[in-house]
Amino acid sequence: MHWPQLSPESIREKVFSALDQNLNYSKESILGLPGTFLDQGQFHYSPFLKEAAFLSVLVNNPNHIGCHTYSKGERYFSGTQKLEIDVLRICAEEIFSAKPDSYDGYVATGGTEANIEAQWIYRNFFMQKHNAKPSEVAVVFSEDAHYSVYKGSNLLGIESIAIKVDFETRKVLLDDLEEKLTQAKTSGIKYLIVHLSLGTTIFGSVDDSASFLSVVKNHFKHYFVHVDAAFGGFIYPFASSSRDLSFENPEISSVTIDAHKMLQAPYGTGIFLCRKGLIEFAQTEEASYVHGSDFTLCGSRSGANAISIWMILMTYGSEGWIKTIKNLTDLTDHLCENLDDLGVKYFRNPSMNIVAINAEDVSEALIKKYHLVADNYHDPKWWKIVTMAHVTEKLINSFLRDLKIEREAKFSLK
Ligand SMILES: *Cc1c(COP(=O)(O)O)cnc(C)c1O
Repeated sequence: MHWPQLSPESIREKVFSALDQNLNYSKESILGLPGTFLDQGQFHYSPFLKEAAFLSVLVNNPNHIGCHTYSKGERYFSGTQKLEIDVLRICAEEIFSAKPDSYDGYVATGGTEANIEAQWIYRNFFMQKHNAKPSEVAVVFSEDAHYSVYKGSNLLGIESIAIKVDFETRKVLLDDLEEKLTQAKTSGIKYLIVHLSLGTTIFGSVDDSASFLSVVKNHFKHYFVHVDAAFGGFIYPFASSSRDLSFENPEISSVTIDAHKMLQAPYGTGIFLCRKGLIEFAQTEEASYVHGSDFTLCGSRSGANAISIWMILMTYGSEGWIKTIKNLTDLTDHLCENLDDLGVKYFRNPSMNIVAINAEDVSEALIKKYHLVADNYHDPKWWKIVTMAHVTEKLINSFLRDLKIEREAKFSLK
């Protein structure tokens, strides 16, 4: 993994130069495009925009509609589209170990859209190649997977199969997988979409492809594997040497990575990546007014989103990002060591920054004071802490002090 770190001046220069290669609504004669710059009453060109590359792109409002790894896309905004292609290259090749030119992808609205795009592609593949009915296709996932899997299966008219996990290890129960897949076959499911999580939202738990797929293969010949790294994509590959859920593993066909979580990009920056030969199955041939056709769920999308990801990646460089992640996982280690000392039960994957504390070990008062998040608000069993950029050692220590006082009081009463 190695991408460069650039100085703020160099980043600014490169973004402005990309913008210069786009069609400019203010300077050129443009009559046919159904797009324009942002409303000038509200977002007029102020002198400070000369310094602010991201805001300048936002105001110029380039449309990145289409899929630029696949075809040339709208030719009007090729400058900023090139930077999107560089973002996809870094994510696919450097972070998720894909070979050059072996993937397609785009910057989607978020992890939800990227997960649905994956299901959409695979459902259509099964329908076109195997004459499948949507009701013969199912998506299978751990019960800790993100709820967007249900949105996708609901929209696409396919079945959803949630597999139970062990309460403490959060690992998929292979017996339950075996049982549910046997049932699914009996009820007419012939094609599977396997949805593995590279960091579940609540626990940060990471699925294991080999054990899951060994059961799948016993029952199904036709399946695709999608990796949901919406949360973990910008942390796990930097903290762990495992490449199980990357393109290095031939079983993996597509990946979701959110830049608007760990990477601190603005919302609207979910990244979808898949191997070549798949995105065609989400092509809308009727998109005849879009140059290069459309392969995405969202249609029009802001080029500024892709640029924001590129700017953050270049601000850190791969080395800098590895250090940033190390600081966060070190802080999470510190939290866990202290929880161990206090005898508090929790779940944590060592390459992640999420700690889910057993509900019995933390009071209502502390949950409120520190805004901990429940696994399930109807019946909370776990409350989680996520060490993001705003979480300081001071804040963690303050929580630990309060927790210690609470536990000492609890045990002295017994
Ligand atoms: C947040 C998240 C999603 C959904 O992403 P949005 O960007 O909110 O649409 C999907 N999967 C996982 C694992 C997530 O953490």
